Amino acid sequence: MDRRKKTEERKKMPRVKKAKDCYRSLDDSRRPKCRKFAAIMCGPCEQADARYVTRRAEILLIRKEQNRQSAARSRDNFALKRDDVLAEDYALRQEEYECDMTLYNLEQEKRRLLSAIHSKCLERDWRMEQVATDISGSIIKNPDEAILYLCQALGIVHEV
Ligand SMILES: [Zn+2]
Repeated sequence: MDRRKKTEERKKMPRVKKAKDCYRSLDDSRRPKCRKFAAIMCGPCEQADARYVTRRAEILLIRKEQNRQSAARSRDNFALKRDDVLAEDYALRQEEYECDMTLYNLEQEKRRLLSAIHSKCLERDWRMEQVATDISGSIIKNPDEAILYLCQALGIVHEV
């Protein structure tokens, strides 16, 4: 009963058509929404739309330029990095070459020293053999003198 009454009261009330305002953003960052007409726009909305389109194009242009600059920067950075890597590579190759040269020289020096040591050993062996031959020769020639000499050398007092 109550509900029915309410509905009827509502029906009797004059319908106030709320005038909808057009939506336009203050800084033209959004597309305006005209609520006056369906198919076309009212004057202020049209102007706002034109400003929005211009602003949008400007933003896209700026963004494009920023992207272009950023790409150029990263290209430059890449080129710089590549130059650094190439320079480092060159320096390392140079260092490697110098190390190889040092190693080669050391190897040559080692061979020369080994050869000299071998010669010295041969010479020593030859000299020792020579001395042994001389000593045995003199002992055979003069055994008494040799025994005396040996005794003196060893600290044995020998009375002849
Ligand atoms: Zn409008």
